[in-house]
Order: sequence, then structure tokens, then C-alpha cells
Amino acid sequence: MAVSDHVGFPEFMAGVEKRNPGQKEFVQAIHEVAQDIFEFIQDKEEYHEYQILRRIAEPDRVVSFRVCWEDDDNNIRVQRGWRVQNNNAIGPYKGGIRFHPNVTESVLKFLAFEQTFKNSLTGLSLGGGKGGSNFNPKGKSDHEVMRFCQSFMTELFRHVGDDIDVPAGDIGVGGREIAYMFGQYKRITNKFSGVLTGKGLEFGGSLVRTEATGYGAVYFLQDMLKRAGDDVEGKTAVVSGSGNVATHAAEKIVHLGGKVLTLSDSQGFVFDPDGFDLEKISWVKEHKTRRRGRIADYVEVYPSAKFHAEARPWGVPCDLAVPCATQNEIRGEDAKSLVANGCIVVVEGANMPTDLDGVAVFKNARILFGPGKAANAGGVALSGLEMSQNAARVVWSEEELQERLRQLMLGIHDRCTQYGVSAGASKDTGYCDYVKGANIAGFKKVADAMLAYGVV
Ligand code: GLU
Repeated sequence: MAVSDHVGFPEFMAGVEKRNPGQKEFVQAIHEVAQDIFEFIQDKEEYHEYQILRRIAEPDRVVSFRVCWEDDDNNIRVQRGWRVQNNNAIGPYKGGIRFHPNVTESVLKFLAFEQTFKNSLTGLSLGGGKGGSNFNPKGKSDHEVMRFCQSFMTELFRHVGDDIDVPAGDIGVGGREIAYMFGQYKRITNKFSGVLTGKGLEFGGSLVRTEATGYGAVYFLQDMLKRAGDDVEGKTAVVSGSGNVATHAAEKIVHLGGKVLTLSDSQGFVFDPDGFDLEKISWVKEHKTRRRGRIADYVEVYPSAKFHAEARPWGVPCDLAVPCATQNEIRGEDAKSLVANGCIVVVEGANMPTDLDGVAVFKNARILFGPGKAANAGGVALSGLEMSQNAARVVWSEEELQERLRQLMLGIHDRCTQYGVSAGASKDTGYCDYVKGANIAGFKKVADAMLAYGVV
């Protein structure tokens, strides 16, 4: 095929939309990546000939199953579960499990697609997958969550394995859920293996896994600022979310001398004009994870703070914005107000928290924008280290793991700058389009492995 005969970006996207009707999150994720990849492969015949992008954008398989469980009042409840195995060209499928009422096949396909690039960017041997269910763990008793997790694993066990597919946590799935699922996997298979990551320390979990996503995102932010000759010290930050990623991102910002002004949950955000210090962050962690409470309760304990119901925090003036809640939480208008209020860096702790309009606003304003697939890759990278420790039956020290996390994030930042700086500009100081850099670097490794395999 001559280079000029290649399908162009608009036709490619029209095909994606036609094959995935109604799956708007999946189409959005492909759109964001494909734009950059088309430019990159323009003069690279092999990638076209072997239809590499078309193949990465079609999951290897999507497993969908019924999950029945019994609630505390003996009602039979029925949920849907999925595992999307997107691509295992460079390693076993790897990616979290999300339990949230808005989980659909489209959401999991977008997450598995993103995960493929993210995992590649870590430099480790990890393929991309994602799973979950529309089950809502909020308000459920521990026993209800246990029965749901056991039922979910009773089907999932057939599709996963330490060399096949290694799930972990995500929204609605933390240490408690991973432990219930691991217990059920072990019971069904009679095998103690590293089939899940994010496990408890007593049964194969790794130190630093809990902190890794949030800390990693702030390390990425630190590296972006450093490249621009700046640092976190004295900067104000608006953080969304109040789960594992948000609280650890906030903690690391405080470690580095920044001031965290907000945290949020699905009911609204809290603005604390004095800043969330380490003690306050630790109260939030305790309240959200152990007591499973709401962020609104914060103002009863720290009355100088104010709760804004049903609102997102992007109108609060800040230097740094760190979205750590969920997809599409920063829309075009939010992005505009961040830029207008002087925000200089946006770093995504969540997966695809900025919609396509928002990304365009940040790119046009030329502010530093760290996309989730690069910035939040510290979590899955630490999961990769948990897999290595499980396989070798060793336990690494906290110090060693903290250092490895730091180096992994530096490596990801380097890979982004390798492809994100325009030809002719200085690799060290020229403007870096981190979205483009992450997309191309993540794509290249997977694509080259696929080329090596031929048509499979
Ligand atoms: N859910 C996390 C992510 O989005 C972690 C996945 C993992 O550790 O496998 O990257």
C-alpha cells in the first residue's frame, strides 16, 4: 500500500464510532491517542501495513458475566461484571477493578485502552486490562461486600492468573475488596499466587503500593516543574477526590512545601483556607477508608473550612491542579477558569479526568499538562514491583521501594519528553506536549512488539 492510500484520522475515528456504538468514553480515549499516533506513523509504513493502531483499539477480548449475591435482608441481587483484556503484547494483562454504579462496558474499555499505554510507559513488562462491575459498595455492610466479591471472583478466576492477567484495585476497590477476592481465588484454585496486586502486607502485598499513585503523580509534577526551572515549594494546589490517590497526592504536596486548598467527593468539595496539613489529611484518610464517611463531615472537625455542596473545586484560584477523582471531571469551562485564575500545572491523578475540550484549553494555553497515563502510572508500576516480589518470593524494604518509585516516575517523565518536544526545540527546555509524548512513547513499545509477532 502506498503511504498516500492510508486511512486518515477522520475515517479511522468514523470506523471506531461505528464499531462501538454508544461507547462514548471508549471513543473519547481512542480519539485522544489516535490524533498523536497518526502524526507519528505518517511516514512509518509498517505500522500502517500491519494495522497496529486498529488492532490496539480492538480489545483482545471482553468477558461479561452475571454476578448474583444476597444482601443482608436476603434479597437476591444481580449485577454485571466484566474483564476487558485489551492487549498483552508486552506482558500479562494488568489493570484495576472498578466497582461503581456508572461502570459500563464503554468505561472499562476506555480504561483498559489507556492502561495499555500507561503500563508500557512504566518501562515494565505489563500488558493492559481493566475490569469491574456496576455494583455500588457505598452503604453496603462488610458482609455484603464480601459476598459480592466472592461471587465476582467465582467467575473471574477462570480468566486471570499470575502469568495471564493480574487485576488490582481502582475506584470502589481497595484493600478490603482485594482481600476478599484473593481469599476466594485461593479457595477455588488451591493456589497461593500473585494473581492480584494491592494485597495486604500479610499475604504478599508490597510496601508503598498504597501511596504509589498519589506520590507518583506529585513526583511527575515535580519533574515537570523542575524542567521549567521551578518547584512545588510555596505553591497552592487544588486537589479533587479524597480517596487513596487524592490523599497521598495531597500528602506529597505538603511534604514538598506546597499548600493543599481542597479535597472533594461526589457530594461536593471542601475548601480549607489554612491548607490541609498532614494531620488533617490523616483525618480524611481515616474518615474515608475506615469510617467510610463523607468529606462534608470535615467542616465539623475543622470549622474554618467550608463545604461547597454539588460543586467541583476548579473555580478556586491555585498554582497547581491535581484531579484525582474520576473521568471527565474537568470540562472545557473548568479548564478555562483554571487557566484564567493563573494555574500553571495540571497533573492527572485520575484516569482521563479532563475531557477533550479541557485538554485543548490546556494545550492552547501552553501550561504544563501531565496526562493520567503518564502521571498516575506510579500505582501500576508499584503493582509491577509487587508482582516481581511475589514471583521471586522476596520482600523489598520501604526505602528500596520508595527509591524505585521515584526512579520509575523519572523514567516515565523522560520517555514523555523524548517524544513530546517538537523537532528542533531543546529536549531539556523546549515546550513539551506531555500528552503527545506519553501517547507516542506508550504506543511505540507495544507496537514494535506486535510487529515482531506478525499477524496474531
Ligand atoms: N487502577 C490503577 C490504575 O488505574 C492501578 C492498576 C494496577 O495496579 O494494576 O492504574
